[in-house]
Amino acid sequence: MLRITDNNLELTSTEEANINGVNTLVIRGTYSPVPSACKKCRSSVIDKEGNTNIVKNGKKEVTIRLLPYQNLPTLLKLKKQRFYCKNCCHNWTAQCSIVDKNCHISKFTTLKILELLTEKISMTLIAKVFQVSLPTVSRLLKSVEAQLPHQLKPRCFPEVLMVDEFGSHTNREDKMSFICADRKTGELIDILPSRKLNKLTVYFNRTPLEVRLK
Ligand SMILES: [Zn+2]
Repeated sequence: MLRITDNNLELTSTEEANINGVNTLVIRGTYSPVPSACKKCRSSVIDKEGNTNIVKNGKKEVTIRLLPYQNLPTLLKLKKQRFYCKNCCHNWTAQCSIVDKNCHISKFTTLKILELLTEKISMTLIAKVFQVSLPTVSRLLKSVEAQLPHQLKPRCFPEVLMVDEFGSHTNREDKMSFICADRKTGELIDILPSRKLNKLTVYFNRTPLEVRLK
């Protein structure tokens, strides 16, 4: 049901619990793959003499946010196996395929958030629906910035440019947006999320000076 197919991940229990005042589905599990060679000194698990180099070294519990299940916010409390290398004293935690390293939301959740970021809905709403923080949503958007279509092309402006500000509440730093139109035809030229000078300067500077001087 959770589409977790990792053979080394075993789910042990589920319960409903009140977490920070929110009724939440808590799933518990363990992730314990067989030991692998040390990534630091490359010692094998068992050497030629039959000595064991890599040993299990307790478990570390992490909390992973899954997609809501049956309308309930859902958390996976996962005990991940830790390993220790006797040769170089390096220790590490097994990495599970359902989350990226150092990430606390599942890949399914990440993909769903990215999908919703293509819709005209607020990031605040996305954060609320998936019970993640607004900076998390913002960070995900930034992570794909390089793959977004390059919309910021220099553009030509009409001879007479009409400008105004209006309340749009589209972003948190500036409640007012910027709008500009062709004074002669009334045609809309552009709408920018902020009317602040530093944002406007960047926007207009994309057009070469000689074009702007016209
Ligand atoms: Zn080692």
